[in-house]
Parts: sequence; structure tokens; C-alpha cells
Amino acid sequence: MGHLAVSDAQQLVLQSLTRLGSETVGLEQALGRVLAQDIRANRDLPPFDVSAMDGFALRSADVASAPAQLAIIEDIKAGDLPTQTVAAGQCARIMTGAPMPPGADAVIRVEDTQEVSANRVQINKSVKPKNDVRPLGENMRDGDVVLTVGTEITPGVIGVLATVKAAQFLVFRRPRVAILSTGNELEGMDEPVDPHKIPNSNSYALMAQMQALGIAPVLLGIARDDPLELEQYLRRGLEYDVLLVSGGTSVGVHDYVRPTIEKLGVQMKFWRVAIRPGHPLAFGMLPPTKVPQAYLEDRQGGEQQATPQCAACGTLVFGLPGNPVSSMVCVEEFVVPALRRMMGNPRLYRRTVTARVAHEVKFRPGRTEFIRVQLTRDEHGYIASATGTQSSGVLLSMARADGLMIVPAASTGLAAGAQVTVQLLDGTAFQDETGFGE
Ligand code: AMP
Ligand code: MG
Repeated sequence: MGHLAVSDAQQLVLQSLTRLGSETVGLEQALGRVLAQDIRANRDLPPFDVSAMDGFALRSADVASAPAQLAIIEDIKAGDLPTQTVAAGQCARIMTGAPMPPGADAVIRVEDTQEVSANRVQINKSVKPKNDVRPLGENMRDGDVVLTVGTEITPGVIGVLATVKAAQFLVFRRPRVAILSTGNELEGMDEPVDPHKIPNSNSYALMAQMQALGIAPVLLGIARDDPLELEQYLRRGLEYDVLLVSGGTSVGVHDYVRPTIEKLGVQMKFWRVAIRPGHPLAFGMLPPTKVPQAYLEDRQGGEQQATPQCAACGTLVFGLPGNPVSSMVCVEEFVVPALRRMMGNPRLYRRTVTARVAHEVKFRPGRTEFIRVQLTRDEHGYIASATGTQSSGVLLSMARADGLMIVPAASTGLAAGAQVTVQLLDGTAFQDETGFGE
């Protein structure tokens, strides 16, 4: 098998999985989850025509040739119900959100009026019918579907859920993810510094990539490059919905990951992708028939079965390259979209922006390249500049990156100023400046 194109590999991964089942959560715990049910309005909002302003409710015909004086017949505050009908020559003082009194068809804001006495007001402007009136049901009508399955729960969505009194609702389950690092050279976080060893950063960087999706992964630790030890660790990892293995997927004589997971029943879908950094990326699935029954029931379950025939509820296994940058880039491109689909989110891919590249980029064609860049902005838009050395071992290039600049596989290089696409990474939702110059 040759090197698979990035998009083909992404599709192969996505075709191998389905959404997970659902579970009930309360409103207070729901931020970041994805709705597994439609949500309907439970009343009309507003429940009647209400004023959009502090001012006076009046009959627009009375003020057609303003200025005009009107008699104030009552005060209507938010939460009050009007008690009188507004007749010709009359008005009611009204507050924002208060119901319109019968007879009145418009509101004039207080700034366009002048009080003459305690019960008389001069209206300085004419208004059209419905002026500053929020009609019944402007927000939502009773029974309307206001949020649909697949909606990611943001603070705004929480507000809508509270509006319709949805204290509990169904969301898609989050996958259980295990992370295993492999390599004789690795030094654990709690081990003393040994100059001959390589600190295990991958377990933690991958952990954080999972946490950024709202997933709490389990760190299985470090397996040595020994087939028996590796097998023990991998067996444990296959109990999860998704297993991420870092290192040992290459073709070195001590790269035992692939033969060992195959021995355990994992069916490999691919093990080479035309991507830089990261080409020794392997992907396979332990078929549902080989997943212990207890785990499988749990996977398929849920109060509302999202996928009645969960044909693809096997364990997904990603064999990630050991190089720290490569493993993170492969997680971004292949694992993140997979996990988001499992969690029912239709938005699978990182948001992209168009930028100009600040400098020439030389490059060997044949693989899609993901270059770590920082983004700045001028009056023409974004400018992308590489975050220093792009060696796949230099993790600081990832730590400093706002995004991944994509150089298509067919490209032979980019001149300074060329237009490029950049995927935004975590940490880019905010910026130093307001961006609108005020
Ligand atoms: P491998 O894919 O196992 O051939 O590893 C490729 C490179 O990544 C080697 O230089 C490893 O030392 C390094 N590496 C592998 N696993 C880790 C890890 N968990 N943390 C940091 N570096 C790693
Ligand atoms: Mg290794």
C-alpha cells in the first residue's frame, strides 16, 4: 500500500465510525456538549405585544401631525397588566417589556416627549403603527423547534435552553479515550532527569488535545519496545472507545505497535499517509465482534439510541508517529474530526482563514504539509509566518503556533505574499486588539 492522500485518509477514518449514544445532562453541566434531541418552545415569547422602549403607548393616528398633547391614563411597568383601553387623545406611560394596552398601536420613546403635567404629555414626533412594539411570539412560538440535534451548546444556547425551561436534556456521549506512549528512551514525568532519555511529552500534549474537546482521557503510561509488555498495555487500551498510541508505528525493527495490535484483532485500514509532518500514521479498528460484550453494550446504549445498528462501535486505534509535532498534527487532522463526529457535532474541521505568507516556503512535493505559523494582521488581512524551525521534533514550533498553514501535496513551494489557507488552533479565539478600531 502506498501513501494515502490526507483527504482519503480522513474519509476512511470518518467512514469507520458513527455517533455514540446519548445521555441526559443538566443545564449547569451542558456547556460544550452537543444536543441529541430537538428542543421546542414551551410558550409564546413574548406572550403578548410588548413595548421595546420606555415611553408612551399611544394611537399613531393621534400623533400624525405632531406635536400633539395626550392624556396619560395609567402607568404600565414590566410585569403589570394594563387595566384600561387607550381611547382617542389618550396614552399610557409604559416601560420596556410591559404589555401594550388595548387601543394603542405604537410606542414613542420618552426622549421624543415632554411632560406637561402629571397626567399630560406632549408628543414631539409622529410614529408609524407598530413603532417600538415587539410583537407576540417575536422570539419563539409555542411548539416551534428552536434548537436541533447536533447543536453545540454555547452560552447563547444555554440561554435558549433556560428560556424554554429545559433543565435536563439529551446530549451525545463523549468517547472514552486512552493514551499510550511507547519507547525505551522515554522518561516519565515522575522519573528523575536522565540526560540519555527523552521526556515523555506526547502523553500530555495528546491529553490536552483531548481535554480541549471536553474529553477526559486516561493515560496508560509508557510501554517499552517489548512485544509482550506492549501487548499487555494495548489490551487495556482496547477496552476504550478510542486508543491513541504514540510511537513505534514506523518501520524500525523495534516498532512493534502494528504487528501487536494486528495480533490482538485490530484490522488496519491504513498505516502510511502522505502528510508532513507525520507520515507513519496508522489507523485501524477492533471490530465490534471482538470488543468485550460489556463495553459494547455501554457503547451502543443511551437513553435515545443514536445509531440503532451500531455497525461501527468497534475500538478505533490510531498509531501516531512518536515525533512530538507529528503526533499533535495527526491528532488535529485525523483524530479531532473523528471524535467530534462521535460526539454528534456536524462541525468536524478546524476553522480556516485565508492569509498571505510572509516569506518564501521551499518544499518537497508529494505530501500535504502542515506548517506551524503565527498570524498577524494588516489592512489587507492575515499574514502567516512560520514559527521558527519546522523540524517535527521541535515542539516549541507547535507551542508558538496560532495555526497550521496548509501546503497542498501538488505544490512545489510558495513565494512571499502567496495566498494560503491556515487552520486556526486552540488559543486563537481572542486577540490583543479590538479589531474594529474603536
Ligand atoms: P518513533 O515514532 O517511536 O520512532 O519515535 C520518533 C521520535 O519521537 C523519537 O525521537 C522518539 O524519541 C520521539 N518520541 C516518541 N515518543 C515520544 C513521547 N511520548 N514523547 C516525546 N517524544 C517521543
Ligand atoms: Mg519509538
